[in-house]
Amino acid sequence: MIDPFGRDINYLRVSVTDRCDLRCVYCMAEDMEFLPKRDLLTLEELDRLCSTFIELGVRKLRLTGGEPLVRRNVMSLIESLGRHLDSGALDELTLTTNGTRLAEFAGRLAEAGVRRINVSLDTLDADRFRQITRWGDLSKVLAGLEAAKKAGLSIKINMVAMRDVNEHDIDHMVSWCGDQDFDLTFIETMPMGDIEGDRTDQYIPLSIVRANLQKKWTLKETDFQTGGPARYTVCQETEKRIGFITPMTHNFCESCNRVRLTCTGTLYMCLGQDDAADLRTPLRQSEGNEPLIAAIHESITRKPKGHDFFIDRRNNRPAVTRHMSVTGG
Ligand code: SAM
Ligand code: SF4
Repeated sequence: MIDPFGRDINYLRVSVTDRCDLRCVYCMAEDMEFLPKRDLLTLEELDRLCSTFIELGVRKLRLTGGEPLVRRNVMSLIESLGRHLDSGALDELTLTTNGTRLAEFAGRLAEAGVRRINVSLDTLDADRFRQITRWGDLSKVLAGLEAAKKAGLSIKINMVAMRDVNEHDIDHMVSWCGDQDFDLTFIETMPMGDIEGDRTDQYIPLSIVRANLQKKWTLKETDFQTGGPARYTVCQETEKRIGFITPMTHNFCESCNRVRLTCTGTLYMCLGQDDAADLRTPLRQSEGNEPLIAAIHESITRKPKGHDFFIDRRNNRPAVTRHMSVTGG
């Protein structure tokens, strides 16, 4: 699948549920309204959609959410998708998770062929973790990470950097990730969805985070790329990768290789734009995949050149009205 700007679309991110067991302050409002269950694609439909994308050239699949591991029976989907790794049609099946249920699932994930996971963790302080997630229990995430390590999964930690909230935890996170053998990526807060708060207060440009880190750590530039918004360095002292996702301050769109599917079968061609394609109707229209394949090809012709993220400071409104939990980041 080649889009109008010559980009090869080979990476699909799938939000398997919009629900979550946490309510991170930058991501959701406390009283989020979730989709009615009847609107969700079944796990079989998600499998059929993913398999069709793989047939059309997707080589990397990431399951996300909401929290993917809270969807009932999600392991049956992951185990079934593992067949595409065995056949060689898919290079990688990965997951972004908050880690609360990893202790339960890490072994089965590894058996299904998952090799790497991203775990979101914004602080190592239990009280601050509870504040950021509104009620989360840090010890569960740490136990999950331990289980994932034991199962042989490679782990990257995602940390959203927030002014005054966790900016002083950053050095500790770098050294802890070094000790644990985890890569680490910093994320800027993005203006997506109403959250009952002011994001302009939380926003720190990662250029400042990076400048502060460089007072203590030696960060060597690398040309490691994933086609996404992250730019990676290697920390000489810990020998682990440290990435910076800077959608607000940098443009990464020229190399964008991905599209995003929601749990209701809506395809977003860009994280930072509202244009979308409905794939649920063609999926349900016929037992054969022809209408679906035609709809996917049509959607790829609409992939925009780039995003328009900005925080609307005057009106304090998010630039993109849907929450990150709809498309999974
Ligand atoms: N629940 C899973 C998790 O937290 O890893 C997967 C879904 S979560 C929406 C994916 C990533 O998006 C997480 O790393 C989270 O920190 C990040 N995220 C959510 N809302 C964000 C926002 N407004 N700005 C920047 N990152 C955000
Ligand atoms: Fe849930 Fe992930 Fe959003 Fe936090 S960032 S509320 S864990 S979906």
